[in-house]
Amino acid sequence: MNESFQLFDLAGRVAIVTGGGRGIGREIALTLARAGADIAIAELDIGPASDCIQEIRDMGREAMLIETDVRQPSSVEAMTQQVAARFGKVDILINNAGIAKNTPAEETPDEEWLGIIDINLNGLFWCCRAVGRRMLENGSGVIVNIASMSGSVVNKPQPQAAYNASKAAVVMLTKSLAAEWAGRGVRVNCVSPGYIGTEMTKMGMNNEEWKRTWLEMTPLGRVGEPAEIAHAVWFLASDAAAYATGTNLTVDGGYTCW
Ligand code: NDP
Repeated sequence: MNESFQLFDLAGRVAIVTGGGRGIGREIALTLARAGADIAIAELDIGPASDCIQEIRDMGREAMLIETDVRQPSSVEAMTQQVAARFGKVDILINNAGIAKNTPAEETPDEEWLGIIDINLNGLFWCCRAVGRRMLENGSGVIVNIASMSGSVVNKPQPQAAYNASKAAVVMLTKSLAAEWAGRGVRVNCVSPGYIGTEMTKMGMNNEEWKRTWLEMTPLGRVGEPAEIAHAVWFLASDAAAYATGTNLTVDGGYTCW
């Protein structure tokens, strides 16, 4: 392997992927495993993740599946302890778990607002805090948060104020943690996807008006594949991105150009 390729090699690293059982998270888990990492998937509903775990084991990597609710600090702490007990360390944390709702702002019930913030922002912070502590103790680690282009622009035509606000907060939290931890060996970055073909965008792609608007507003004229996000995450998680911290890597088919 030449020197440049070696920078992308994750052999011997241990990575946690939240929400790694399906959608973008699943592809991130598989991509990091192909790059050599052992993987822990932290998932609310562990059922659908078992085939992903098997695929990782078939590659010859270690994989563990941990039932985790990122909304609960105690669940996140227990998950972190289990990974540390099994592997002795955590090198990479990918905060991917997230939800979206499309309710007009003035009609948003309290529980819906709180529910979105609880997973997309609070849950992500609990994971950064619990895993970050261990990384700081070891003097090394990389965190990649999955934000969204919705953290920088307002989507059209669907209303999603809570989601947009939660993702903007993820971008700022990423910069804040990056600045606090840079001198102690821990890098923190985020990736902001545009529209990606997963369960989350299924309803929109089945709505003719939404789909037309989404594709018209995307210079590349299509939704992205989960793998196209996973590759950006791989870069940031690897030594190839050694000088990147606090950055927000947008991968959106050009959506935010217009
Ligand atoms: P999916 O709906 O396909 O997957 C979401 C994942 O999050 C699932 O694995 C789900 O687990 C997990 N999750 C939800 N709640 C919790 C919780 N409380 N604890 C642990 N895990 C939880 O979405 P995507 O793959 O599309 O999205 C992944 C990330 O990418 C999200 O953060 C999303 O906001 C972001 N994103 C997605 C875009 C898109 O177009 N798809 C665009 C921009 C950003 P379970 O199966 O157990 O419910």
